[in-house]
Amino acid sequence: MVTLGCSKNLVDSEKLLCQLHRSGLRVVHNSEETGADIVVINTCGFIGDAKEESVDTILNFIQAKERGEVGQVFVMGCLSERYKTELQNEIPDVDKYFGVNDLAKIVESIGASYSEHLIGERFLTTPSHYAYLKVSEGCDRKCSFCAIPMIRGKHLSVPEEQLVHEAEFLAGKGVKELILIAQDLTYYGLDLYGKRRLASLLEKLTDSKGIEWIRLHYAYPAGFPEEVLVLMRENEKICRYLDIPFQHVSDPVLKNMRRGNTRRQSYELIRKFRAEVPGLALRTTLMVGHPGEGEKEFRELLDFVRQMRFDRLGVFCYSEEENTWGAKHLQDTIAEDVKQERMEEIMDLQAGISLELNRDKIGKQYRVVIDRKEGAYFVGRTEADSPEVDNEVLITNDSDLAPGTFVHVRITKAEEFDLFGELEVTPSTGNTK
Ligand code: SF4
Repeated sequence: MVTLGCSKNLVDSEKLLCQLHRSGLRVVHNSEETGADIVVINTCGFIGDAKEESVDTILNFIQAKERGEVGQVFVMGCLSERYKTELQNEIPDVDKYFGVNDLAKIVESIGASYSEHLIGERFLTTPSHYAYLKVSEGCDRKCSFCAIPMIRGKHLSVPEEQLVHEAEFLAGKGVKELILIAQDLTYYGLDLYGKRRLASLLEKLTDSKGIEWIRLHYAYPAGFPEEVLVLMRENEKICRYLDIPFQHVSDPVLKNMRRGNTRRQSYELIRKFRAEVPGLALRTTLMVGHPGEGEKEFRELLDFVRQMRFDRLGVFCYSEEENTWGAKHLQDTIAEDVKQERMEEIMDLQAGISLELNRDKIGKQYRVVIDRKEGAYFVGRTEADSPEVDNEVLITNDSDLAPGTFVHVRITKAEEFDLFGELEVTPSTGNTK
């Protein structure tokens, strides 16, 4: 199994692997191993670069098939959901193409038997102490630049009881950190229960024995369910961490992006977050070069980054995506080099902010979960760091620290995107938030 793209794709792969594994097949994930009887490629079709990587991966395995190293090649996921006909014409040597909701069909096509009672179970591919929990599929938003609603369809919440069952299954496998993901996390429940139910879901998930940390990704700024903030402040298990892509802050650009929120609301929301949840770490994603972003609008965005001092930040350049509202109604007139310059200017500013924020942590103590050993260091994360995308804490220690262990660390040194520290007390299960 080869998974490309985002953590939501990874969860889909883990569900498929679970079905195949429980049907008696030997399964491996993203392995260097060659010589598989069957390869399933879970593709990404979000933006240009991701689509290219998916096509290259398919072609690589078709060549391996021609060399007799691979038996069959199956393709699933967002790229084949979006471009099935084109792919069938251009790369006919793929044995079969599937969309994003074809789990049972893929299992049957591989010759295994699909089993309903495995719903909510997964074959974990992440390090065993953390896992993603996808609380919904699809999206009802209308962002100008985004193809996801076309690929993944309307917003569909997973019923709470099914998510609680999945969380308990994962906890039973040794998972201690649950990372909640969706296209739009804050929309959870509106379709299924007629109201936002993220807070109620969180309350139930915090009852899962063994789960120590619950982390929230992909919140949406408009209509944020503020009852979640109270839970975040008062419940030990919910990380004071929020990933909320603002994309932009200038009103004319937000309007063009069809984001449904304003500059004033963005500033106010962040101030409310920080007032309600002291010590909250905020991650955001911004987009530069969207149609309508002149020098003035870009300066507003730069000022937003300077004033709001996000703990974690990623930037993307606008790329016109086929059949999106933006492609149909807006002109992509900003030169690529201007987009690149703007992205670099924001990342330079953010690197300085990140270093200052990290330096403020020197001498302070933090609860850290150990992820792995790397050279002389044990590498871990604080509650302000999500796996694979955020900062890490590098710890020197004589005795071994197993992945998934929680320790208390005093920070001794800071760099732009990493912290260094020493063990403060012996590994503890106590939860000092
Ligand atoms: S919220 Fe907007 S950017 Fe995010 S998946 Fe939905 S349409 Fe795309």
